[in-house]
Amino acid sequence: MARKKMTGKKLFLLYAYPCVKDACRDFLGKNYPKLNDKLRAKLDRIVENDEDPTAAFLAICFPVRVAQHLEYARANGLDPWAKKTVQMSWRYQHRNKGACSVFACAIVDHAKSTVSCKGKRFTTAEVMCGEKLLLVLNYYNLPLRNNLLVFVHQRVIIEIE
Ligand SMILES: [Zn+2]
Repeated sequence: MARKKMTGKKLFLLYAYPCVKDACRDFLGKNYPKLNDKLRAKLDRIVENDEDPTAAFLAICFPVRVAQHLEYARANGLDPWAKKTVQMSWRYQHRNKGACSVFACAIVDHAKSTVSCKGKRFTTAEVMCGEKLLLVLNYYNLPLRNNLLVFVHQRVIIEIE
């Protein structure tokens, strides 16, 4: 999908989305919050069509994470939906167990293999996160090269530095 101009709210969604989509559940593992079918369909449509979500919709889908994000912005006197604030919030404030943290990783092999998710093919990349080699999914079809620094959440590449 060719992406239009990135906004703070869109970027927030790209980071949060791998927590709910079931397209690649086998690849990504478990621990997904439950969303009803209607919300999930709307979420999928917004990501698929590269739309700008509203802050209210993000708060419905990701209440805990949005609350943390707003608190981070408030405490630091930042505009919560500025792209830079969203980047800082996810890259450096989001630390949970296992894959539910954001890691900065270097690409070792930008086209390691492909996987099929809901009838579409996606490339996987091998990345070095700290001392660990990980296989991650290029779900957003970003233009990857070896040695690039990328930010990974839930084993999905979200952003290129
Ligand atoms: Zn997470």
